[in-house]
Amino acid sequence: MARAKILVVEDEVDILEVIEYNLSREGFRVLSSRDGDAGLRIARSDAPDLVLLDLMLPGLDGLEVCRRLKADTITCDIPIIMVTAKGEESDIVLGLGIGADDYMTKPFGPKELVARVKAVIRRRPLVRKDGADERIVIGDLVIDIFRHEVLVDSEPLILTPTELRLLHLLATQPGRVFTRDQLLSRVIGDGAFVIGRNIDVHIRGMRSKLGRHRDMIETVRGVGYRLRDV
Ligand code: CA
Repeated sequence: MARAKILVVEDEVDILEVIEYNLSREGFRVLSSRDGDAGLRIARSDAPDLVLLDLMLPGLDGLEVCRRLKADTITCDIPIIMVTAKGEESDIVLGLGIGADDYMTKPFGPKELVARVKAVIRRRPLVRKDGADERIVIGDLVIDIFRHEVLVDSEPLILTPTELRLLHLLATQPGRVFTRDQLLSRVIGDGAFVIGRNIDVHIRGMRSKLGRHRDMIETVRGVGYRLRDV
């Protein structure tokens, strides 16, 4: 792969320099912008492979930048990692809800930065949108959505239809955090009975069936759930 290009949108110069330094050292090409408007322009003109987006920005804030990137056909497929301050869980939930791929909380060290960036770039949706490729293998877990079959250690796992859809959605992008609202709308939809609308209940049911693999489904406090990226 050619050197991946990362656009960093960050108004604090000190932090921007540290990020630039650490990403360049890992071989990434780094573009930078200190405000949202310029960030949007660069994203359109330079097609970065990933945007590292600070939420607190002068002018257009990070959430608005994220929204516009995702609404634009030119930039909508560029993965976004949001950078937030501590205690901004509600912003994280909002950001993931409008299409950000991951988030990091300040302060973060260079190791975490590089690991997150690499993980998001590496992470490709495992299921094509047309549904032609519906078998997912993650470690000891095999999910076959067409056959309604899940195998763990080669043994079939009996899941409810909702649990199966939930596990399948999480498994399409291991490591990606899904908010409860995203899981709810994409797995259960709007028309379901009230009793089925608590995602935590379905997750709990699934975990107990997963037995020794229960830790594969990780709770991200205040945000949602993700499947561990093995
Ligand atoms: Ca900032």
